[in-house]
Amino acid sequence: MKKYLMAGNWKMHKTFKETTEYFEIFLKGLAEFNFSDREIMIAPPFTVLAHTRKLTEESFIKLGAQNACWEEKGAFTGEISPVMLKELGVTYVILGHSERRHIFGETNELIGKRVGGVYRYGLIPILCVGETLEERKSGKTLEVVKTQLIEGLKELKEVKGNDLVIAYEPVWAIGTGVNATPEQAEEVHAFIRKKLEEIYNKEISEKIRILYGGSVKPENIADLMRQPNIDGVLVGGASLDPEKFIKICTIQIEKIC
Ligand code: PEP
Repeated sequence: MKKYLMAGNWKMHKTFKETTEYFEIFLKGLAEFNFSDREIMIAPPFTVLAHTRKLTEESFIKLGAQNACWEEKGAFTGEISPVMLKELGVTYVILGHSERRHIFGETNELIGKRVGGVYRYGLIPILCVGETLEERKSGKTLEVVKTQLIEGLKELKEVKGNDLVIAYEPVWAIGTGVNATPEQAEEVHAFIRKKLEEIYNKEISEKIRILYGGSVKPENIADLMRQPNIDGVLVGGASLDPEKFIKICTIQIEKIC
């Protein structure tokens, strides 16, 4: 059964002490909840990955990383190997996040290499795609997303479906407080599903989870999750507050169809 994925991206936030305090509240808040239909993932900074694993090892929480190299080891100063991440208990790796693309200049080609490497070493890539405001205004959204998908998945010739996640994150919605409307998000999600069908096949495309990201909060999560092609969320700001993220992770999911 395809499980929803409620994922938190902490970005460059939280020290060791703050991480401990967060999980005291977060784990208590989730203790009574039945998670049979969904997975929860948190991607903290690399510096607290091992600590987070320790704090959550008795729980169902999956660990994510915010980037990874494509090689196992070597002369790659400042990079982290997928093998090293695996050793720490990491399951998911966020790749191609808009901050990597726009602040650090990561190209579709580089992101495709990262996705390929992470997958080869048995981690699940979360490939982020999404258009800027300018691109949306000039009607280029679907074209941009299509290129990001094709280039990002270049090295993944065959997948099972449950071993790949796509996150649609319109750049204009990230950290701005302005989320895409459920209808805007659904339009792009349905398009992504169709493209995945062309790249792989229908059965696989239906197994691949497509997350929405961009100013998700307790107030808008239910409406977003009602859309047929939204299989979960990638949450930045609101995942930093354990109370808010508890509300997001435990939302009752009712699909439109
Ligand atoms: C993100 O960082 O992936 C994100 C969606 O951020 P926010 O929820 O703060 O918009």
